[in-house]
Amino acid sequence: MDTLVATVKTLSNKAKHLSTNVAASGGKTTPQVSILQRPQTKSYAEAAAQLPKTPTKGRKRSATQGPTPPKNPKQKQTKEARAPEDTSATPAKGNNENATVSRPKNTRIAKRRLYATRATPAPLPEASKLEPKISMAITKELQKCGCSAPTNLQIQINPTNGTVSLTTAPGTEAAEYTNYLAPMTTALSATLPEAARDYKEFPRAPTDTQVVIHGISLEATSNEKDSLYTVMKESLFLGQQVNISSARFLQNDPKIRTTKWYTSVVVSLPTDDVEKITPAVLVFGRHKSSVVMWHSNPTKQCRKCYLYRHPEEGCKATKHTCPICSGEHRLKEHRCASPACRKKGDKKIVANCCPVTPSKCIACGGNHPAYAAECAIKIKAKADAKAHYDRRRPSPTPEDMDITK
Ligand SMILES: [Zn+2]
Ligand SMILES: [Zn+2]
Ligand SMILES: [Zn+2]
Ligand SMILES: [Zn+2]
Repeated sequence: MDTLVATVKTLSNKAKHLSTNVAASGGKTTPQVSILQRPQTKSYAEAAAQLPKTPTKGRKRSATQGPTPPKNPKQKQTKEARAPEDTSATPAKGNNENATVSRPKNTRIAKRRLYATRATPAPLPEASKLEPKISMAITKELQKCGCSAPTNLQIQINPTNGTVSLTTAPGTEAAEYTNYLAPMTTALSATLPEAARDYKEFPRAPTDTQVVIHGISLEATSNEKDSLYTVMKESLFLGQQVNISSARFLQNDPKIRTTKWYTSVVVSLPTDDVEKITPAVLVFGRHKSSVVMWHSNPTKQCRKCYLYRHPEEGCKATKHTCPICSGEHRLKEHRCASPACRKKGDKKIVANCCPVTPSKCIACGGNHPAYAAECAIKIKAKADAKAHYDRRRPSPTPEDMDITK
């Protein structure tokens, strides 16, 4: 039992740990930036001109404010200053699936989460004691149902509203549990004290996308978590007719936030609306840069450069790399150079067609496509992910981690 509890906690920590990278997406116009303090985008010169270069004197701020707020918001090193990581490394090829992405994908972590909310939001008494019990009850129930997906879900209970969130194992989407949501909810309720059995059924996995909006003035939003959602919702609805479902500070620590004049805010909204608010959005009358938040883990293979640890949304490569031959073209454009190709590779995509166009893995240089299971880099990535998953130690929160690392 203790082992199971430990596993559950580890899983939850791990999920946090994995879901930390935020990067510029939406492409070319968005500079890569450090996420924590990013006052504005260079590509929005106009907006930049409107922004105060220095804080207004005599402005009242929180008592916990640091003595010296940054004079120049740009003093922080931005990503542009760093060498792109993809340039020298051997890109790896990814899955053979869809090689192109026309719009931001849901974040991976979002696809791995399930939430059960209380009919009347309220803290769950002794939540930390209940977590392992609920976790075991759900695991047992899933096993009883013959669930083929991993049954060891990571659990977290929100201390404020009692929401129970479950995170699935890496590589497993929450959608795989769709058939078991009712019995899972029953198992959850059965574990709870009578007075707390008001949980609504786990809804299907959320499809919202998270977007980070940088350079939000704390003066406009206040430093309060609770009012943030209300204020952001109103502003984005008025300005863009976009309905957000949540808003939070990227920097979770209010004390750290008070040392800054600007902060970054993460909002969730329907994926179809993402392009309305990226790569820039009008908030409180000013243009702010915004990027789709992406998540990654060791096995995430980019479908643009076919390297690991980032999705296409976070790719810094300027050109696509072919996962079959390492050429500078997309997978769909891959053709054999030989008109006499015995497998008609000159007419369609065929990996390992003939000696004229051998496969070359961009990740390891081997004679296989970059998405091949035999690739040593892929095998290592999987091992890394497993080690990460198994490691039982507290992990930093997403806010602790900088995108530039
Ligand atoms: Zn890439
Ligand atoms: Zn090719
Ligand atoms: Zn060929
Ligand atoms: Zn390889």
